[in-house]
Amino acid sequence: MSPSKVSTISWDSFHNTVDGQARNSKSKHRGINPATGEELWEVPIGNQQDIDDAVKSAQNAFETWSQTPLEKRKETITKFRDHYMSFADELIDLMCQETGKPRQFATYEVKGAAGFFDHHLALDIPEERIEDDEKVLLTRFTPLGVVGAICPWNFPIILCLGKVIPALLTGNTIIVKPSPYTPYTTLKIVELAQEIFAPGVVQAVGGDDKLGPMLTTHPGVAKISFTGSIATGKKVMAAAAGTLKRVTLELGGNDASIVLPDVDIKKVAPELVMGAFQNSGQVCVATKRIYIHEDIYDEMLKEMVAFTKTIKVGDPSSGSLLGPIQNKMQYEKVKTFFEDSKSHGYKFAVGEPEVSGSKGYFVQPTIIDNPPNDSRIIQEEPFGPIVPTQPWSDEEEVIKRANNTNAGLGACVWGKDVERAERIGKRLQAGSVFVNSWEKPTPQAIFGGHKESGIGGEWGTEGLKSYCNAHVLHTYKSNCNIYVSASPAHAAKDCGECDTGRYHRTQHTWLISVEPHKHHMPFVPQNKLEPTHFSANWKDDGYHVHTHSTGGVIGTILVKEGAKGDVEHIQQVLQAALKPTSANKSSDQTPDDEHDRWVKKGLHALQTDKITDTFDLSEFMTFAHGYFANRLDSDAPARIAYPGLHKDHKEKSSKHHFWLTYPTKAPNGAEPGSRTYGGLM
Ligand code: NAD
Repeated sequence: MSPSKVSTISWDSFHNTVDGQARNSKSKHRGINPATGEELWEVPIGNQQDIDDAVKSAQNAFETWSQTPLEKRKETITKFRDHYMSFADELIDLMCQETGKPRQFATYEVKGAAGFFDHHLALDIPEERIEDDEKVLLTRFTPLGVVGAICPWNFPIILCLGKVIPALLTGNTIIVKPSPYTPYTTLKIVELAQEIFAPGVVQAVGGDDKLGPMLTTHPGVAKISFTGSIATGKKVMAAAAGTLKRVTLELGGNDASIVLPDVDIKKVAPELVMGAFQNSGQVCVATKRIYIHEDIYDEMLKEMVAFTKTIKVGDPSSGSLLGPIQNKMQYEKVKTFFEDSKSHGYKFAVGEPEVSGSKGYFVQPTIIDNPPNDSRIIQEEPFGPIVPTQPWSDEEEVIKRANNTNAGLGACVWGKDVERAERIGKRLQAGSVFVNSWEKPTPQAIFGGHKESGIGGEWGTEGLKSYCNAHVLHTYKSNCNIYVSASPAHAAKDCGECDTGRYHRTQHTWLISVEPHKHHMPFVPQNKLEPTHFSANWKDDGYHVHTHSTGGVIGTILVKEGAKGDVEHIQQVLQAALKPTSANKSSDQTPDDEHDRWVKKGLHALQTDKITDTFDLSEFMTFAHGYFANRLDSDAPARIAYPGLHKDHKEKSSKHHFWLTYPTKAPNGAEPGSRTYGGLM
């Protein structure tokens, strides 16, 4: 233990964690070190009571954790990351024992998890804001509640933290159920987390396969994030249907790798082999079928065989490249692929038909040369170091062959002609396609399967959403918003086309409008100048002026060249002017003429601060009233609106023309739709 570490963690006893406390059980089981066949430490077998207690605690913790601001949650997760990393050496030792992985790969997994932390900590939870004249739509992504994480044994840390980190970041609480084959690292990581998080935020209940169904059927669990086999995934989805839980299913794959004829054979051969045999083939996105162009088939296979013969298989500290199969059940399953290939007389390009017995569950990497399409080794996922190769000649045909599977997790295409490789890649039915690389999932992008390889996905910004509900707030605007728009783009030159030169002085144009949103305002021109708009919305203590989207501009005043016309300054001046007096209230409680007063206050403030040229405010208001009364085309009392000035893109090529548009009849008797130059200077 490094001197900076302060912890009571012991590394030779293991327990579940419920409500911040160690939880043991009368029933115990032991994992097996797959490199030696020796039993490891006892671990408790959790039961229904443990799950019920954990769900209750997680629900309580959710109340606070979900309401903790994102930045604060990130701070806490960062502490957890650092705490976790300070125990990297202990976790590497433990992982070597529970998985048998070669030490360098155990190190890669333990330390690689830091990248998962860091990537997620840099993300923000997506949010989308859409605004029109009538309303603001705010789409946020809010946490679901209690997440159940059901994990497999092949990457016990990455596939556990790959769920824990995004679930916590988005404000959920989580109960982790490790695979019965690899409980040790998970239980310790969750134990470490108790020194950082409040009880119930992160818990672990391990045991046997009965625990999974307890989580998938529990009414207090909002979501199951499951990684495992297709067969179990189907059971998870069926069980979750009872309570309509959200599910993310990360399931098995049968990845095809297509090799184009132009590749550098010597360079690509070892890569193809590692794509298939990484982690002894126990990778959901390992390459499981290799299609090599017929022109290079023999040579490529020869190189692959030569490289495979150099691969050392052995225990974690032997300097080997591959370790054992992680457990006896899987070891026996992998052997059936050898037996099947042998009994059908398929050609073993490298590797022996008989898997020789040893204390550990070791299997030599094996390539089956051109078995038929309907062979088991082509059709099914062995999840061990045995892979088939087949030749191809026709692009369309090999794409069909690659896609001819119920799985769709990953795929690879190799070729110097990257355009061709990408073109083929785009047609492969898989969640992640790799061009000129074997499968290397990354937290930067969503990871998920097509077809029976899964439902949904995790990681990347999109993956965060899988831990969230979409929550849309539709806020209708109050009766009267004040818009002030700045159009620096209109720092006009003399355009020469326009008969109202006053609009083309070297000035900035600031547009001010009042929008009575109660009314439909079809006439409001869309301002295409991309001005900076401000809207002033009522809050408890007065109008708060903030920047606003484009559109809906119906008035103008001109800002002096060189005046204090910066956006922030104008915002401040308006906000100060619109502070409440005892008389004003929020707009929906305010008589119409109050709106005038606020607008006048805003305009006066701009004038007083010399932001605008002098102009006759009362004339402006009279015109606005008259205009608005006409617009309503009814006897209803006039509300304020200011003349609409907008750029007419269709009819005028000049950048500097602004028009008033009269939708009904104009004060001067003009017909609806007719236009006149507008302006109040
Ligand atoms: P598995 O399906 O046997 O077990 C996965 C987990 O499910 C374990 O924790 C197990 O205890 C639990 N479980 C078992 N029965 C359950 C039930 N009825 N309800 C709920 N949970 C249950 O898978 P495995 O053997 O641990 O893992 C290997 C498989 O996982 C392979 O097929 C591999 O391709 C796949 N996998 C997929 C990904 C991916 O991200 N897509 C990653 C790794 C592994």
